[in-house]
Amino acid sequence: MTEHVVNPAADRRIKACPACDSVSLELVATEDQIPTNSCLLLESRAEAEGYPRGDLALTYCQDCGFLFNADFDTQLSEYSARYEETQGYSAKFVDFARNLAKTWVDKYDLHGKSVLEIGCGSMGEFLQFMVDAGAGKGIGIDPALNVERIEHEHPERFEWIPDFYSEEYSGLQADAVVCRHTLEHISPVKEFMEMVRRAIGDRPDTVVLFELPDVKRVLEEVAFWDVYYEHCSYFSLGSLARLFRATGFEVLHLELDYDDQYLLIEARPSTVPAAGEQSNFGSKTTWMLYAPV
Ligand SMILES: [Zn+2]
Repeated sequence: MTEHVVNPAADRRIKACPACDSVSLELVATEDQIPTNSCLLLESRAEAEGYPRGDLALTYCQDCGFLFNADFDTQLSEYSARYEETQGYSAKFVDFARNLAKTWVDKYDLHGKSVLEIGCGSMGEFLQFMVDAGAGKGIGIDPALNVERIEHEHPERFEWIPDFYSEEYSGLQADAVVCRHTLEHISPVKEFMEMVRRAIGDRPDTVVLFELPDVKRVLEEVAFWDVYYEHCSYFSLGSLARLFRATGFEVLHLELDYDDQYLLIEARPSTVPAAGEQSNFGSKTTWMLYAPV
């Protein structure tokens, strides 16, 4: 294996793949000193111009196909009540989200059951859509949660936790764990998925439903507006499925949606213990089917 990470001066640079621990990495693009947040409402021009900056070092893992910012510093990103990310005022996005919520509730028979959404956003729209579609209870956790903005005719069916998801919340049990447009903001992706897996424990019927941007579309369209500091992790269908399998999940369904912009992955806890690093990535056929980006 060859290590292609350059710039020894960058001591802080991540030197092993956050998804699979491989050191077979290739630095593919850099951009120094970019703003570390893109969705904050700031009070003044001076505050905006003086906002912290960080470096982008897009790095490709030759073993699992994951693309990530090796210079990402978690401390620099702010996720707070002044983080405005909602797409709830877009009719197209709301239609898509409502349909997806209904599809998941029907497909996994979540009628009357509980849903935990990690990173539910400031208004928890998707969790509300899942309850509207028949789910019994929604638990939403997000540091940007603004509970005062949430209006639902059945507030008693929700629990809102304005915080980052962590081991501290592993006691929150639900029939489904949903996580949309959040994993791309998390740098230690393997640690995060392992934490989610530990929290589910021995409840094999729990379904795990994730949605995030597809890096292949970003690269093919040269969608530079989707490459920014907050997005520290970039997945393809292949690299996402491999991460799920490597962290103890069985992939039930994998597809592109929203005009092929988003990856959807549906999984459940695997009952087969991982035998070795490579075998975690599935059979050779699966490997080829979901080839790296
Ligand atoms: Zn990797």
